[in-house]
Amino acid sequence: GRKFFVGGNWKCNGTTEQVKKIVSTLNGGEVPSQDVVEVVISPPFVFLPLVKEALRPDFHVAAQNCWVKKGGAFTGEVSAEMLVNLSIPWVIIGHSERRLMLKESNEFVGDKVAYALSQGLKVIACIGETLEQREAGSTVEVVAAQTKAIAGSRPCVSVVSFVTCLDVRFVGYFMYRTLTVTGLKDCICFFYKSKVSNWADVVLAYEPVWAIGTGKVATPAQAQEVHSELRKWLQANVSPEVAASTRIIYGGSVTAANCKELAAQPDVDGFLVGGASLKPEFIDIIKSAE
Ligand code: 13P
Repeated sequence: GRKFFVGGNWKCNGTTEQVKKIVSTLNGGEVPSQDVVEVVISPPFVFLPLVKEALRPDFHVAAQNCWVKKGGAFTGEVSAEMLVNLSIPWVIIGHSERRLMLKESNEFVGDKVAYALSQGLKVIACIGETLEQREAGSTVEVVAAQTKAIAGSRPCVSVVSFVTCLDVRFVGYFMYRTLTVTGLKDCICFFYKSKVSNWADVVLAYEPVWAIGTGKVATPAQAQEVHSELRKWLQANVSPEVAASTRIIYGGSVTAANCKELAAQPDVDGFLVGGASLKPEFIDIIKSAE
């Protein structure tokens, strides 16, 4: 069982007064227990301490971004270490608004996910195609490339002793596909180094760009098709276990009115909600978990 996951991405919205009001609505909402649904609220950085403090204990918080590596001379950025320091458990990485408006590349997003995970954060990693890409028939190709950059099959080559080579295959840190060219004593290893070692800490959010903030939600069939392709990709490129256990959630114009049908799809394991997460109907979206 993959536990249903509902994230509320507030994006760049809110005043202190509004934040207090939304939190109070959330705190008063009747929702299924934590065994049934995992709820994560993502306010802007400046409101994180306030929301974390005031929010009911069965809901958790996420930052909307973090810096790609260790903090330092990076004006305007917030590091993964700082989030850990404030006990913020989750971070959203690779949202399409950042990919498109701030030109975050697949590689950059992949590096951010890897660094955040290495610091102990849990990651909501976002992927999704534009309308142009969908119309060109390249949806699956686009989301697979985005997922690949996150999963991190980065080719590496090294010359190691034959014994070491066998060792690295079995410690499990390096992914499959070890091709060896053996000499008498040494061999050359070509391997793919995985960036993600703890898939349990990753939620994959499929958010088609054309559905975000447009009121044009993906049909349940459209969402299911991409989610199923993503699970197949994980099965073939990571492992059957990771494919079976990783939550793949949908985002893009999710509302109380359309969430039930989407939630009924076998490969839709929850939602990442934008606009509706600022409204009382977010409680109804959480309820679609059961
Ligand atoms: P909307 O729900 O407002 O379409 O936004 C979706 C989204 O981008 C969540 O991250």
